[in-house]
Amino acid sequence: MKKMWSIKQINLIPWIMFLLFQFETLNGFNIINRNEWRARDHLYSESITEDVRYVIIHHSYNPGFCQTTDACKASMRSIQDLHMDFNGWEDIGYTFAIGGDGNVYEGRGYGIVGAHAPNYNNRSIGLLFIGDYTHSLPTPYMLNVAKEFIAYSVSQKQLKSDYKLYGHRQVRETECPGQALYNEIKNWEHWTEN
Ligand SMILES: [Zn+2]
Repeated sequence: MKKMWSIKQINLIPWIMFLLFQFETLNGFNIINRNEWRARDHLYSESITEDVRYVIIHHSYNPGFCQTTDACKASMRSIQDLHMDFNGWEDIGYTFAIGGDGNVYEGRGYGIVGAHAPNYNNRSIGLLFIGDYTHSLPTPYMLNVAKEFIAYSVSQKQLKSDYKLYGHRQVRETECPGQALYNEIKNWEHWTEN
């Protein structure tokens, strides 16, 4: 007969699970903060006051895919310039972005009202995939980082655990986040038809 585990060992299991989870979330991706990509200061920012219950997925279309961290930082700066100088917004519109280098880039950041999806800006995370995903998908690595980042956001209480995930085109007239990426996210657990 196999030896039963002792009570002492059983008590360790939740701790081991916890440590594995922490290891995963801490090592699954890096967040490149605004200082690191040399973001301009926002003109003003407004705090989110209600529960964040949505993730809205975008693609940048242009700029296209960025391979290196330097290139992705430059993409973030060009998107911010476009949003501030051309659109006249107070900051880059998105909450966070995923680069082709596998890093997560802080846009407006957690808890700040975005400018990426009308009617949802005050209760969503706007998550951008840098690149054009009309005909091809982000790399598997990028897709995985996005999923890990969303799970991390729930673990940090920045997103409700029963959140709904939408593609941008579901909340306004746009081709964003590209047909290929839209087909992909429709398979994700929290994607919801609207
Ligand atoms: Zn979009």
